[in-house]
Amino acid sequence: MQKRRTFIKKTGLLLSGISILPHYAFKSNFQKRKLGVCLVGLGNYSENLLAPALQLTEYCELRGIVTGSPKKIPVWQKRHGIPDKNVYNYDTIGAIANNPEIDVIYIVLPTGLHSEYAIIAANTGKHVWCEKPMAKTAVECQAIIDACTKNKVKLSIGYRMQHEPNTQKVIEWAKTKPFGAIEKVKAEIGWNITNPPDIWRMDAELGGGLIYDVGVYCINAMRYTTGMEPIAVAAHHENTRPEVYKEVQETSIFKLDFPSGVKASGKTTAAENVNILRSDCKNGWYELSPFQAYNGVKGKASDGTSLNTYIENQQATQMDDDALAILENRPMMVSGEEGMKDIVIVEAINESANTGKEVKLS
Ligand code: NAD
Repeated sequence: MQKRRTFIKKTGLLLSGISILPHYAFKSNFQKRKLGVCLVGLGNYSENLLAPALQLTEYCELRGIVTGSPKKIPVWQKRHGIPDKNVYNYDTIGAIANNPEIDVIYIVLPTGLHSEYAIIAANTGKHVWCEKPMAKTAVECQAIIDACTKNKVKLSIGYRMQHEPNTQKVIEWAKTKPFGAIEKVKAEIGWNITNPPDIWRMDAELGGGLIYDVGVYCINAMRYTTGMEPIAVAAHHENTRPEVYKEVQETSIFKLDFPSGVKASGKTTAAENVNILRSDCKNGWYELSPFQAYNGVKGKASDGTSLNTYIENQQATQMDDDALAILENRPMMVSGEEGMKDIVIVEAINESANTGKEVKLS
């Protein structure tokens, strides 16, 4: 009898728990709840980086796909155990609204399509993860933010470097300034690309061009390394192969002025191998090189400090950070507003390069 009463008491507590706790909190007492992620666009990044990373994640897993290529469906279903009911195309994506197995829709499409599909995703009522660069224009970025706000869903931009520990040290040093006041920052990324493939990255309409693709890493790095927002931009483009780089730029060189006089210089290029973030300070310097890579981000400082903390998988870390923020109802580490700030600067870089004039930022 005593046992039975204890049982009823416990069950009663349990049942009252169901009514007041969110579903995931209730379940987390018994088995860890994983968020279901649906990848939109099954190109290189989804196939070779995100899907494998979703096999390592603790707080989310791959449950659905959106693709316009029917031949990819059986391959993905077999490899990732995705049932027919979780397979969508670009016309049926809105029906994800009725699929309780999907919690997050991750947009991994060409940049020029991000806003259209991120807004459709937000309107399903699911949380939205959107790859970088957030979109082609600040107006498109704002439309994504507005759709997520209206639907009360969370939005995160896929800046995996902000989840990477050596980068996080640089972000921390913007506040603690162990080498004194930061005076100059340099952020450059490029490859010597002799024969660029004829894909959307060469197509301006679809958001191609290195200033978008990797320029946002440089701009983001300038902002997190200084901990400030720029007040002016001056830029120019260089194109030694106009017959190849017809719509997008081969090289973009840009200078950002920050309050308190800090100067940052940046470059994106298809004519040279370079990958460095350097901060020159009053009493020393530090740098990461490479500062943007899927693995092996490392660096050093003028006092001999090494920056070489290892993590197994950046994408898994990023997606787990974002899934946990959703589960615990915390702000996302890289918000839509953060993604939009870089696109405002990309637009200012293009405006300055086109007009030959410095662009002031408010
Ligand atoms: P990709 O070309 O390999 O894949 C693009 C996918 O979009 C393909 O499956 C393609 O079929 C599909 N698609 C749908 N409509 C299309 C259209 N109209 N034109 C062209 N393709 C169309 O590209 P990717 O390298 O996978 O990049 C996708 C996104 O992921 C981009 O926003 C890119 O910036 C981002 N990305 C981010 C990282 C990172 O480290 N965070 C790395 C690579 C790519």
